[in-house]
Amino acid sequence: LDAATSAIITAEAEHVAHNYHPLPVVIARGEGAWVTDVEGKRYLDLLSAYSALNFGHRHPAILAAAQEQLARLTLTSRAYHNDQLGVFAAALAEMCGKDLVLPMNTGAEAVETGIKVARAWGYRVKGIAPDRATVIVAGGNFHGRTTTIVGFSDDPQARDDFGPYAAGFRTVPFGDAAALEAAIDENTAAVLLEPIQGEAGVVIPPEGYLRAVREITQRHNVLFIADEIQSGLGRVGETFACDREGVVPDVYLLGKALGGGILPLSAVVGDRDVLGVIRPGEHGSTFGGNPLASAVGTRVVEMLATGEFQRRAAALGEHLQVKLAELVGSGVTAVRVVGLWAGIDIDPAVGTGREVAERMIARGVLVKDTHGQTIRIAPPLVVRSTELDWAVEQLRLVLAG
Ligand code: PLP
Repeated sequence: LDAATSAIITAEAEHVAHNYHPLPVVIARGEGAWVTDVEGKRYLDLLSAYSALNFGHRHPAILAAAQEQLARLTLTSRAYHNDQLGVFAAALAEMCGKDLVLPMNTGAEAVETGIKVARAWGYRVKGIAPDRATVIVAGGNFHGRTTTIVGFSDDPQARDDFGPYAAGFRTVPFGDAAALEAAIDENTAAVLLEPIQGEAGVVIPPEGYLRAVREITQRHNVLFIADEIQSGLGRVGETFACDREGVVPDVYLLGKALGGGILPLSAVVGDRDVLGVIRPGEHGSTFGGNPLASAVGTRVVEMLATGEFQRRAAALGEHLQVKLAELVGSGVTAVRVVGLWAGIDIDPAVGTGREVAERMIARGVLVKDTHGQTIRIAPPLVVRSTELDWAVEQLRLVLAG
């Protein structure tokens, strides 16, 4: 490592809690699909902050919306109204085909909010006996890091030593609709799923699974909450991963790219008969719905409304699929590609996912391992196909040793 890079990493480690083990690159600038480190070395960013940078770094249209709003008003709290939140909520609700938006900040907060909404709906609308409501979740899930959420994770790293865990969750295998139906009883308020599991390594359920979940939840009067925080907003070649099966959940959980890669912005989106159960004083957030985030979110929704990013993700994804398939058998054991999103399982004979990521960095490509042997890539949707080709060639060279 260069001295400047080493010095920054060492200094950071002195005072930053070690809840992450970052790859050894210190980024100082970003533009579009590219970042530059403190030594001036450029990297193609194929992680996009776990899909939060779907529009790339510092997209000019998003920066402009933020800058205009910075010059006027940034924060009011929801003790008062601001002139941006309603505009954002109307645009987002329309994009989702729903009535109401509940704005929060981080993804985990949107998930927590969705759980609260499901429970309140369960008691107040469905008539579940007090304190008996359950939410069904999938094995291999990742919904965030709060104490409630890690309690229904089955990843020991996420969960161990953070108990006692919240009651009221039941886990079924992901992709198995029959198991899901069998787990439903009179106390089931909701099913909470990632339509495609991101952190698990871009795990795509069998064709028809989401349609089956929709049909089963409807028949049993159970809410279907789709966590589209990582899968949504263009990543898979459609606005939502649920769109791939023509499925509309009762509740969308959105985050990451909703904030345009500039600030944290998440939302719970649903119809009045569901989200309307929350009454004044029962839920909130100091920063949720702030005018700066709202202005950015409105711009993001406008950009998605053209369909341009979804089309790019679909077309580039098909291209990427062909390129990555060529690597299977040559250092790669399996690839899963959907839109511009891929899980690449590395042959242990080549090394760990982390080692491959480190070698990719040396070649100017940022990727990140997940769960040991998998490399997950989620390039900004503004990436060019020639850039993807170049990156896949770097991966081929790394795998070839
Ligand atoms: N839900 C899903 C599907 C995610 O992928 C993530 C983050 O990776 C979260 C929720 C949590 O989001 P945040 O890190 O903003 O709390």
